[in-house]
Amino acid sequence: MLAAGGEDARPIAGGHSLIPMMKLRMAAPTTLIDIASLDELAGIAVGPAQIVIGAATTQHDMISSEDLFAACPIIRETAEMIADPQVRYCGTLGGNVGNGDPGNDMPALMQCLGAIYVCESASGSREVSARDFYQAAYFTALQPGEMITSVCIPRPAQGHGYAYCKLKRKIGDYATAAAAVTLELVGGSVRDASIALTNVADTPLLAAEAAQQLIGAPLSEATITAAVARAEAITAPSADGRGSAEYRTKMAGVMVRRAIALAQSRAGEAQPKPAMPSSSSGAAAGSAPTQTNDDGGKGKGGFFGWLKS
Ligand SMILES: Cc1cc2nc3c(=O)[nH]c(=O)nc-3n(C[C@H](O)[C@H](O)[C@H](O)COP(=O)(O)OP(=O)(O)OC[C@H]3O[C@@H](n4cnc5c(N)ncnc54)[C@H](O)[C@@H]3O)c2cc1C
Repeated sequence: MLAAGGEDARPIAGGHSLIPMMKLRMAAPTTLIDIASLDELAGIAVGPAQIVIGAATTQHDMISSEDLFAACPIIRETAEMIADPQVRYCGTLGGNVGNGDPGNDMPALMQCLGAIYVCESASGSREVSARDFYQAAYFTALQPGEMITSVCIPRPAQGHGYAYCKLKRKIGDYATAAAAVTLELVGGSVRDASIALTNVADTPLLAAEAAQQLIGAPLSEATITAAVARAEAITAPSADGRGSAEYRTKMAGVMVRRAIALAQSRAGEAQPKPAMPSSSSGAAAGSAPTQTNDDGGKGKGGFFGWLKS
């Protein structure tokens, strides 16, 4: 149906971004394909090496999943900072990451976690890294007739530290600036770290050089200050009602500093990472699921048939 609808056809999931955009005349799709109730697109599978989340899984579903929280708690922390419960009951992961809105919180988190988006069209399936997906505000690597069907996340090492810190003017607001941080401590030194930023450029930003500052030594005031400086250096925010460009850059640095401190306080001794399955036989191959959504069974059904195939 998406292919038949041509360039102006769009999937609609929760509708909490698309409908406001249509009201503002920022989008004028000629055909809408409702994917919200497709069971085969919803569900959460936590495997030994990776986590697979169906694109139509709602933010509420992700918050409610205890197994997801146990494996990758930063997803719940981030989802809980999105809007309000009403939006989170409808808003989906696929809509949040597929929209290309730099204000959305999940894209930077997915970059931080090294997620892969599985994109499907009538002509087949391909995998696109969240780190390569975003091209400009509302421009992504998605081709006409293509949609995201699931998001695959390498399972973080047990004992990792994490934090998503978001500055917003009021409950329910988009970020003035936000930062996602994960890190692994072994013997007091940082074995691995990842940092990404929300709403301080046209796209989410992976702060790879900032993370590199932290790796290979114990966390210190000097390494954290260097990481903050590297993160601030890649921002290019515009001035808006949330503040001037300079203010938002500085707030990105403050969020990075806070997130590193919180991640450090949560980190235990990191265990070795489980080996990732080969991606050649499909994104979910080898990720034997341990659970479905545990808040109503929405994820049971076609999604797991697809996952096991
Ligand atoms: C008041 C309010 C406050 C909000 N605050 C925040 C916030 O703080 N942080 C935040 O992150 N979000 C926020 N949002 C956005 C909300 O989380 C959206 O619901 C979400 O970003 C989009 O998900 P959706 O399922 O509603 O997508 P839809 O609105 O249905 O779709 C959005 C876009 O993505 C496309 N799309 C949908 N599904 C797919 C798919 N599977 N593959 C490819 N493209 C797809 C659609 O065609 C459309 O272009 C807010 C929304 C509102 C109304």
